[in-house]
Amino acid sequence: MTRAWEQFRDELATWQAEGLAARFWWRDDDATGFTPALSRLLALQSATRAPLALAVIPAQAETELLMHETKGLCMLQHGVDHVNRAAPGEKKSEFPARCDQDHSLARIVEARRDLARRSSGRVLPVLVPPWNRINAALAGHLHAAGYRGLSGFGLELPGCNGLIQLNTHVDIVAWRRGKSFAGTDEVLGIATTLLEQRRLGKAAHAPIGWLTHHAVHDGAAWDFLERLFALTLTLSSVEWVGADAIFAAGNS
Ligand SMILES: [Zn+2]
Repeated sequence: MTRAWEQFRDELATWQAEGLAARFWWRDDDATGFTPALSRLLALQSATRAPLALAVIPAQAETELLMHETKGLCMLQHGVDHVNRAAPGEKKSEFPARCDQDHSLARIVEARRDLARRSSGRVLPVLVPPWNRINAALAGHLHAAGYRGLSGFGLELPGCNGLIQLNTHVDIVAWRRGKSFAGTDEVLGIATTLLEQRRLGKAAHAPIGWLTHHAVHDGAAWDFLERLFALTLTLSSVEWVGADAIFAAGNS
């Protein structure tokens, strides 16, 4: 076992010794249909029973996927078409401030209605903005437009009254290093720090979100996930929570 795994396991042992339980949740993005990579992801979910929130791209989603039902699987809306509309030089976003906000909101809501119809209500009214970016003014209108939640990366967006925000924090893909697995040192280092901050009361006790992207996983990424679940699903100090339960109950 490498040092990173040891430190992660030791931190969780401290949680256990202190009678605490860390909450983890799992989001996988960019689902469109039953590709070999998605089948592998769903096989992993079904073998481990780890609750999985699959972020589906409405414009590319196959109805067969939207109608898929497995215990522990829920689906979220991943943007509308996942096309970058940011100005050249700006960070990628499907919903940058430069776009007309009424038009963006209308696109989002229309896509939600289409997903709800094609999935018979399986896709939750929760928006996962592509690249985890949405301008705050637009996000502030989502609740009134019928959304229950928003899921991005890192810190919560301010000004989203009424929306439950459940974010991811640990991205296992190194996007600027050929989309390879980010490595156990980096990934577990982040997770261990987040656990420590929560245990010491230095951060809100929001569930820690693990972010994956099945379409680009290399062998090392799949191996890591298998090992992560093998370790954490057996520990009483870890509770893998379903996003559907959090969005139904509130994030407290
Ligand atoms: Zn995406």
